[in-house]
Amino acid sequence: MTDSSSALRHERVTVADACRRLGAAGLLIGTAGNVSVRVGRRVAITATGAVLATLSASQVTVVDLDGEVVAGTLRPTSELDLHLGVYRRYGTGAVVHTHAPMATALSCVLDELPCVHYQLLTLGGSVRVAPYATFGTPELAESVIGALEGRSAALMANHGALTHATTLDQAVEHALLLEWACGVYHHAAAHGTPRVLDEQQQLAVIEAALARNYGTTRPLDPDDVRGPEHVAHPRPAVQEESR
Ligand SMILES: [Zn+2]
Repeated sequence: MTDSSSALRHERVTVADACRRLGAAGLLIGTAGNVSVRVGRRVAITATGAVLATLSASQVTVVDLDGEVVAGTLRPTSELDLHLGVYRRYGTGAVVHTHAPMATALSCVLDELPCVHYQLLTLGGSVRVAPYATFGTPELAESVIGALEGRSAALMANHGALTHATTLDQAVEHALLLEWACGVYHHAAAHGTPRVLDEQQQLAVIEAALARNYGTTRPLDPDDVRGPEHVAHPRPAVQEESR
């Protein structure tokens, strides 16, 4: 029992921390949603029925990539197969699924969230809406995994949103970015037809981000010391995972 009780102890804490962060940001409603992080063939994942916004590490279960419980006392989320499927298909490191209000609202009307803001390139560009299927079913897992092709995010029709990334922090950032982008689209659409960045504009953003190492802090050059104030920029506009 020594091995099983200590399995992914740190990761279980980080999953609980991530859930509380998502809750504080307003992305979680009650027991809806689930979060996981993978280390090798083991996955720390939220338990079914747990209130995520107040989650504790004891409410995180550890399974292997076949779904066998390795540690913990609670049944894993009913979307376990969805999480495991994303790991198997994309070899990613963390998965966040929420019923965030803006993402869920748009999932009821859109087939795709278009690339209306360059920050969406962090998620791979436009975000597909996976066709509806009942929660917890292999059909839903298949639908969402397909919609994630080349992307770090998908909306799930009449259900919610899912993001994934190399690290849990990144997956949470992706979830926050997606919810923000859904809000931008929603507000823009209230005033007219939102303009969409075309392929050329998207490529130019990626080239500029690569050229300027966008989204990372850099030390000042001596010539910059009396220069203009520095502005904190958001994340790099290039997708680094799901390759
Ligand atoms: Zn759900």
